Amino acid sequence: MNIASDPRSLSADSLLSPEANQAAALAAANGVLTIDLDALVANWRKLEKTAVPAECSAVIKANAYGCGVAPVARALAAAGCKTFFVATPEEAAAARAVLPSAIIYVLNGLIQNNGDAYARIDARPVIGDLNELAEWDVFCRRTGWAGGAAIHIDTGMQRLGLTITEAQGLIPRIHAGDHGISLVMSHLACAENLHHPMNARQLAAFRGIASEFSGVPASLANSSGIFLGSAFQFDIVRPGAALYGVNPTPEADNPMLPVVDLKARVVQIRDVERGEGVGYGGNWTARRPTRLAIVSAGYADGYFRAGSSNDGTRGADVIIAGKRCPVAGRISMDLMAVDVTDLERNMVRRGHQATLIGGGITVDELAHHFGTIGYEVLTSLGTRYARVYKSETTGS
Ligand SMILES: *Cc1c(COP(=O)(O)O)cnc(C)c1O
Repeated sequence: MNIASDPRSLSADSLLSPEANQAAALAAANGVLTIDLDALVANWRKLEKTAVPAECSAVIKANAYGCGVAPVARALAAAGCKTFFVATPEEAAAARAVLPSAIIYVLNGLIQNNGDAYARIDARPVIGDLNELAEWDVFCRRTGWAGGAAIHIDTGMQRLGLTITEAQGLIPRIHAGDHGISLVMSHLACAENLHHPMNARQLAAFRGIASEFSGVPASLANSSGIFLGSAFQFDIVRPGAALYGVNPTPEADNPMLPVVDLKARVVQIRDVERGEGVGYGGNWTARRPTRLAIVSAGYADGYFRAGSSNDGTRGADVIIAGKRCPVAGRISMDLMAVDVTDLERNMVRRGHQATLIGGGITVDELAHHFGTIGYEVLTSLGTRYARVYKSETTGS
C-alpha cells in the first residue's frame, strides 16, 4: 500500500506530520508487511563470508523478490554490495535510481533496438545469444558506448545462454583484448539438490570454458550454488532467494534469517454450530461448536487458495494470540476463516493481528502448504499491505 495514495489517510494529510500519517495509515491497514532490513543485511554478510574470496553480489529482480527494490538495494549497497542483478531494463532503471555507483546487470539480456535504454542508465546486458551479441557490438561501435556486458553460457539449463561451441568461438576475441566483456556466467539448474549429478556436470562444463575467458570474472552460483562448495563460487556469486530468508539448502536447516513478517487484521469473530459448513463450497464442516476469526487477507494478497482446508485435508496455519490455528475452509479473495476454538475465550478480538508469515511460520512452510516454492510466495506478496521497513542501523 502506498500510504500517500491511501484514501483513508488523505483527509489527515494536511493535519498530521508524516510520522503521524504513517501511524494513522498503519492503524487503518488491513495488513502489515514488515521487511527486516537488518536481517537482510545479515544474510548478505553471511553469504559473502561463505563465498570469500569471491565477490558477493545481490539479485534484486522482481522488486527484490517482492520485498521492495529501493529499500533493499539501499541497505545492501550501504553494507558494501557493489554488483546487482535485475531481470529487465525497467528494473535496472528503478535500481539505478537508488544505486548511483553500483554495477547493474540485466539478466534477460538486450531488448532488440534498445541499446540506449541500457547505456542511459549505465546497465549491462547479460547476453545469451549470438544475434544479441552482434546487435550489442553494433550499438557499441555506433555510439562509442563501452559500459560492458556479460556473456551467459548455457551449461545444461537450456534456458538462456550461448552453447559451449558458440562460446568457444569468442575465445580469439577475448585473447585479442579490448573485447567489452565484463563477466562470463552460467546458471545452475539443480543447485538446491546437493547430490544431483547435474551440478558436477555443469561445474565441469563451466570451468572449462570460463578458464578460456582469461581475465574475465566468472560467475556460476545462485543462493543454493554457494552452498555446493568453494569450487562453485568462482569470482562472483549471485544470491537472490537466500537474501530474503528462503532456505538455500532445503535438505538441511535454514542457515538464513527470516526477513519477512506478514500480519493481517481480524475483522470479525463468529461462532458456528456443530455441523455447519464454512466458506465457499461449504466443504469444511465444524465438528464441534466452533469459533472462527475472519482475517482480512486472501488470495488477492498472495495468500494462495491452495492453502485452504477441507474435511479431508488440513491447510495452512495462522498465529493468533501467540498460538498456531488452522485455516478453516477455502481461502477467498480478500478474507479467510481461521479456527480459533482452542484459544482461551476472549483471547482474540476484532482488530487483533493474525500472523501469516513470521513467529515460526516461514516462507518455506507456507510455500509447502501452497504447493510451491518460497520464491513464488515472496514474489506474490500482495500490494494491499502497508509496508514497513525495519532497521536499527538506519533508523528507518
Ligand atoms: C534469479 C537468478 C539468480 C538468483 O537465484 P536464487 O536462486 O534466487 O539465488 C541467479 N542467477 C540467475 C541467472 C537468475 O536468473
